[in-house]
Amino acid sequence: MSSLANPGPLTCSATLTQRSSVKPILPDAARLLVPILWSLTVGTLSAATPVDGWSDLFDGRTLEGWRGNEGGASHKVVDGAIVCDGPRSHLFYVGAVEDGQFGDFEFEVEVRTSPGANSGIYFHTAFQEKDWPTQGYEVQVNNTATGEGGYRENKKTGSLYGIRNVYRQLVADNEWFRLRISVLGRQVRIWVNDTESVNYVEPRHAPNGGYKDRRISRGTFALQCHDPGSKVSFRRIRVRPLKGPSMADANLGDAYAIPAGLSQLFADNVPVIDLHTHLKGGLTMADILQRQFRTGINAGVALNCGVGFPVTNDAGIDRVLGEFRHPLVFTGMQAEGREWVTLFSKEAVAKFDYVFTDAMTIFDDNGKRMRLWIPEEVEVTDPQLFMDLLVRRTIQILESEPIDIWVNPTFLPAVIAGDYARLWTPERMNKVIEVAARKGVAIEINDRFRLPSLDFLRLAKAAGVKFTLGTNNGGREDLGRLDHSVQMIREVGLQWQDFWMPGRRRP
Ligand SMILES: [Zn+2]
Repeated sequence: MSSLANPGPLTCSATLTQRSSVKPILPDAARLLVPILWSLTVGTLSAATPVDGWSDLFDGRTLEGWRGNEGGASHKVVDGAIVCDGPRSHLFYVGAVEDGQFGDFEFEVEVRTSPGANSGIYFHTAFQEKDWPTQGYEVQVNNTATGEGGYRENKKTGSLYGIRNVYRQLVADNEWFRLRISVLGRQVRIWVNDTESVNYVEPRHAPNGGYKDRRISRGTFALQCHDPGSKVSFRRIRVRPLKGPSMADANLGDAYAIPAGLSQLFADNVPVIDLHTHLKGGLTMADILQRQFRTGINAGVALNCGVGFPVTNDAGIDRVLGEFRHPLVFTGMQAEGREWVTLFSKEAVAKFDYVFTDAMTIFDDNGKRMRLWIPEEVEVTDPQLFMDLLVRRTIQILESEPIDIWVNPTFLPAVIAGDYARLWTPERMNKVIEVAARKGVAIEINDRFRLPSLDFLRLAKAAGVKFTLGTNNGGREDLGRLDHSVQMIREVGLQWQDFWMPGRRRP
């Protein structure tokens, strides 16, 4: 478990382990794709003990013990399941088990969604006559819902709604899956089938996503009928009390406290996904998951593919994608150099959740290949002429390479980087922005290089460009909390509509 530095006081129950050995990943480019096999240990709450047996909350035949509020007819029993189908309504458990007052518990239910359905399960809540429940937390159910009207719901099944969101689809519509929720003290854990999607400890000054009573307390469960287009079935609903080491000490949540600016983004439906992480410098998948649990920042791991990198053909793509994947983590192709377009088939590239490249490897007019981050390869005789070349090459890349995202955008070699504001004139910025907007290429807000500039971001937003977030970590120590990006989002006034999501392929 060397990969989990500072495991904190929850190690005993936060059973994030790697089953197989993970080779150290050297910073050397040739080793960027060291295969790893790993998995999460799931299925047990190692420190928590259920005290009594399971109690069924649903008899499989009637709604006895349940009470709907608005449009009570939205909930019916069909073939041994509670089917939510109709106008908005919430079905609260008001039966005899624990008198409907659950504190520390383990809860299980089987769920099946129809395409486009949005639903959820509340815990620590209380009956109310109408509206969205204000008390307690909601565990999100949404595999393929696209939202109503102009709204697009980004939070997927397994999210602790607005607090710890999951942006990757974990299960399919029309199939039964198991949702498990446990609360012990201030710790909330959620599993979708065998994938742990949330492991959260409510900190002292917890964000509440705008709901003032979204707090660990005690209360009952509620099943959500979200809207007439959202048909969802629930069956085999059961619960048992849990007892374990007290998590009541508020200090335990400190590792999960995040800046207010970041937590607000979760509540505002902004997809906070660091799509530019690299498993190098000792960074492991377990680190990435721990960061997601602690900060709520989802991630995509980018694999470097191209000349001079371990993946140079379709078989290489299958190999690395077969060797590591986690349901919670997106996988992206970092297309390297300019030659990558000739190395891989369309079908193989489409196996990634997304593809990005940068304009940090370019050819000059004499065919000389320059990697802009390597000073010895860079030749700048006249900065203005060099900029004209860089803009031309960037436009060629955005025009001709089949990418989703332009990363490390507007990067300049060290020799002229100090003149960034003068060299990236509005005219040059608008030229590349116009192409990105027209081709539907998203632009990364890069945390490591703090690129592009605020002026560039404002022009790009005005042009309708979509954005992504990315650290481009150099190792294990510089995977932070996207502080720069969060600040840019606020300063530019970016909303969830301004962001690109993996899975939305260019036509
Ligand atoms: Zn990178």
